[in-house]
Amino acid sequence: MKPLADAQRHVLAAMAPLPTVAVPLAEALGLCTAAPVTAAHDVPPFANSAMDGFAVRASDTADAPVRLDVLEDVPAGSVPTLPVGPGRATRIMTGAPMPDGADAVVIVEETTSEGSTVRVGAPVAPGDSVRAAGSDVAAGATVLEAGVRLGPAHLGLLAAVGASAPMVRRRPVVAVLSTGDEVRPADAPALEPGAIRDANRPLLGALAAGVGAGVLDLGIVGDDAAALRSALERAAGEADVVLTSGGVSMGDYDLVKQVLGELGSVEFWRVAMQPAKPFAFGFLGGTPLFGLPGNPVSAMVSFEQFVRPALLRRMGARRLFRPRVPGVLEHAVETDPAKTVFLRASARHDGSAWRVALSGGQSSHVLGALAAADAFAVVPVGTARLEAGDPVMLEMFHWPESRTAEEVLGWTD
Ligand code: AMP
Ligand code: MG
Repeated sequence: MKPLADAQRHVLAAMAPLPTVAVPLAEALGLCTAAPVTAAHDVPPFANSAMDGFAVRASDTADAPVRLDVLEDVPAGSVPTLPVGPGRATRIMTGAPMPDGADAVVIVEETTSEGSTVRVGAPVAPGDSVRAAGSDVAAGATVLEAGVRLGPAHLGLLAAVGASAPMVRRRPVVAVLSTGDEVRPADAPALEPGAIRDANRPLLGALAAGVGAGVLDLGIVGDDAAALRSALERAAGEADVVLTSGGVSMGDYDLVKQVLGELGSVEFWRVAMQPAKPFAFGFLGGTPLFGLPGNPVSAMVSFEQFVRPALLRRMGARRLFRPRVPGVLEHAVETDPAKTVFLRASARHDGSAWRVALSGGQSSHVLGALAAADAFAVVPVGTARLEAGDPVMLEMFHWPESRTAEEVLGWTD
């Protein structure tokens, strides 16, 4: 058996980065910067008020309460026309440029307007309620390094510095193909004896989409070499990464290895992991192909450990692996010490620690326990048994909303 880390290293080393392309921000979510991004100008571009109020010379307010003459009104989007001299103030709105001469803003709550004057109730210090030019980002500063996977806040930052079409690595296309004579579409009206529904295509397609890939659905191919050959050729021509499921174990009908071996290159490994021990990895032309196991839980574990980091690497990401958090087991588990074991677990935080319980049966066909899981509890090679209360690492793959409005707000409708 191949140690998991060896198999992962081998796969990652074979992943060529995708071409770079400038994309509009609206299409950049989930893609990775291909080069550092620098700010073309200061953000904010000019000193401006952080509050609605009056721009003043702070020294004029030292003996507050004081009365100052109001020069003009400056809403956001307009510019002051008059400098603020001694004894003067300018009414200013949040985001409006500071007038020359003023060095602080008195918030409106601390003032009383009286005709063309304003009464300032309390002193302010220089800089109070003022946002300096460049106080968020200075012109020329690197706002994002290369290899950052863009989230919503990154897109906001890029917009603010004028990087409206950042250079990223393009979105990969992932082809997803299920194999097996027994496999039927989810919407098949009825199942004849011996048939099952295709759980893997929706599962793997969603996992690929979750990484940021576009998904090419290649349907189901039976255990037929000619059909598989043409499906794989199409996949390799149209996709950046091909995922198949099924057909890689030791059975006589396991054709993926055979056909890929004829069309391209393939290595077949028995990886020291559970589930998802059988795994085929190869190339069709320049297109990498992952031959995932047929059992849905195995297919997902294999995706998570091989395909996800590989896709992220092709996308140019610097960080490839999901975060892990320490948890505490609620009950004893026994695992194969020869393998890295990925237990399907539910994780609940009790205020001091993540409490980890198996989410159901651990056989590799048990989708119910996978759907009920938040995380894989990862038991390393060399461990045969963990006791209740033992620490275990959690690889969180699903952090959905977990707190109800009633819990958070005491609110019910
Ligand atoms: P295989 O790797 O082809 O030997 O398949 C292993 C197990 O996974 C068998 O029980 C298959 O019926 C099952 N299986 C294969 N493909 C799928 C699929 N797309 N959805 C659900 N189960 C599958
Ligand atoms: Mg099969």
